[in-house]
Amino acid sequence: YAKEQGRNTFRFYSSDMHASALELLTLSSYLRHALERDELYLVYQPQIRLVTGEMVGVEALLRWKHPDLGVIAPDRFIPLAEETGLIVPIGTWALKEACFQAAQWISRGLPPMRVAVNLSAKQFRNPGLVATVRTALEQSGLPAHLLELELTEGMLIENIASTHETLKALKAMGVTLAIDDFGTGYSSLSYLKHFPLDRLKIDKSFVLEMAEKSGDSAAIVQAIIALAHSLKLTVIAEGVERQDQVAFLKQHCCDEMQGFFFSRPLKSEALEELLQKCMQGPDFCLFNY
Ligand code: C2E
Ligand code: MG
Ligand code: MG
Ligand code: MG
Repeated sequence: YAKEQGRNTFRFYSSDMHASALELLTLSSYLRHALERDELYLVYQPQIRLVTGEMVGVEALLRWKHPDLGVIAPDRFIPLAEETGLIVPIGTWALKEACFQAAQWISRGLPPMRVAVNLSAKQFRNPGLVATVRTALEQSGLPAHLLELELTEGMLIENIASTHETLKALKAMGVTLAIDDFGTGYSSLSYLKHFPLDRLKIDKSFVLEMAEKSGDSAAIVQAIIALAHSLKLTVIAEGVERQDQVAFLKQHCCDEMQGFFFSRPLKSEALEELLQKCMQGPDFCLFNY
């Protein structure tokens, strides 16, 4: 009968849409319980300093393991968490968990690693953010300079004045600030010199596509590295999967790299094993490429 009301109505009632709406509804009701049921955890992906090949940090990435549905990727549930507002408690949990984990590694005598935590837009606009970060640092005992917060370009330009205040307060605490997925957002670059930033993360789409040195992506990667350095920011490439990408990044003096070529994101126990190896001496801590 929907069909009789015209094409648009028919599309609206199509079984595809129904299924996906139902799926979203189910997922969001499951997500509501994920925190209290301990279904969320973090995995950690090493970040490598290019000139030495040593691990200098990790990025904490959220995972959700539902008992029936299995592991659900963040690209599926973060947007949902953002829409429903659940991202605020989930993000707070991730921030605390990452700080406690990094502090625990240090207390076990492992080499100190910077830990980067992704923030979502809603979390960033939440007036409680600065206090949440301060509490996470105080309760975990993690030195502030070992916490990095990853923001995206879109979050920064939304409300320039309040953004500036928030960034200043975070910087005053001693945490470092990185722009994630750099190059995919708004093209206005003027904000870069106004905000107290530390690092640009070149989006993996450019890094993955820079196979031929003549391609557009290679030119973009090169330009972002130069831009970062001229603004006294450090620069990290994400999505490094192959040796030729490493060579290109080295040639253009990128500071750090992260990607499957070095390591997939690891559960905390596996990352700890890697850190244990680093303890055996500098040679063990190096990624040889
Ligand atoms: P992101 O912050 O840009 O994280 C990098 C993504 O690239 C991760 O996907 C990582 O697993 C993947 N990756 C790393 N190396 C490679 C590589 O060599 N090749 C390819 N193809 N991919 C690589 P993941 O873990 O699925 O996370 C996806 C996105 O979900 C993240 O992108 C981030 O935006 C979001 N996310 C993850 N954890 C959190 C969190 O705790 N809070 C918030 N707000 N967002 C999160
Ligand atoms: Mg990130
Ligand atoms: Mg990214
Ligand atoms: Mg991202």
